[in-house]
Amino acid sequence: MGRQGGATTRYRGRFAPSPTGPLHFGSLVAALGSWLDARAHGGEWLVRIEDLDPPREVPGAAAAILAALETLGLHWDGPVLHQSARGERYAEALARLEEAGHAYRCACPRARVARLARRHGPLGPVYPGTCRTGAPPGGPHAVRVRVDGAEAAFDDRLQGRHGASLAEAVGDFVVRRRDGLTAYHLAVVVDDADQGVTDVVRGADLLEATWCHLHLQRLLGLPSPRYLHLPVATGPDGAKLSKQTGAAPVDLRRPGAALERALAFLGHPVPEGLHGAPPAELLAWAADRWSVRRVPPVRARPACGTPSGPGGL
Ligand code: GLU
Repeated sequence: MGRQGGATTRYRGRFAPSPTGPLHFGSLVAALGSWLDARAHGGEWLVRIEDLDPPREVPGAAAAILAALETLGLHWDGPVLHQSARGERYAEALARLEEAGHAYRCACPRARVARLARRHGPLGPVYPGTCRTGAPPGGPHAVRVRVDGAEAAFDDRLQGRHGASLAEAVGDFVVRRRDGLTAYHLAVVVDDADQGVTDVVRGADLLEATWCHLHLQRLLGLPSPRYLHLPVATGPDGAKLSKQTGAAPVDLRRPGAALERALAFLGHPVPEGLHGAPPAELLAWAADRWSVRRVPPVRARPACGTPSGPGGL
């Protein structure tokens, strides 16, 4: 249960994969963590396909991710939402930002932004606001939201308090890209609000992106969910496992083994007697015991090669 707008609301979580490849160990950790947190709270768990970016999309990946979730026993509630069908809602939100004077057109291509930036923040070069007083007419342009003097801070359920001055750490950020596509930050905020999401559980690579989300929620008058950022799984080179870098797909011939590995990663190693149990049994056991206090409070952990035993893989 949570409180939003004064009313007690039922927990509603979500898993929001981008269909850029099949489910790999890193995305399984995010799916499993958000599923367990929702089920342990007696809440709902939604799946949203973040197919906002056709050039990065891999044909068949969305269907493969959904089939993988089914095989793993991570069943979702209600219909799957596809961001590709939500253009109108994003356009409405963008128009509201523009009409209220919170957003402006920016003609600077990425390379110019990198050149102009005097600082680099956790999300990249900090845009110094060059087009704030007017972009040259014509040509492709992005839309940026003004951060002015805003501060963003939140208490992450695992990672603790994270706050920043947006002007220093991020700068005015893009809500519609130069290629006309809606930026992730705007879409995620509109969707989480429209879907009544109370709890966002996702990878810690998005910890600082949350500042942008809090800022947009404030400007658009939307409620802010609670946030829990799980450690991301890294490969032997220390980099985050990702679909783009070719992380191996989860082996769906042995879904229980994949779940056991992900549970251990999240600080919930299954007892000897449960090894080899079917997914439903492993998930029921884990949902009963799920505690954020057992999840290692770090931003990243190796996906393999850690010592075995409690908490190891
Ligand atoms: N679509 C994002 C991803 O696959 C996750 C976004 C979110 O959970 O807010 O990394």
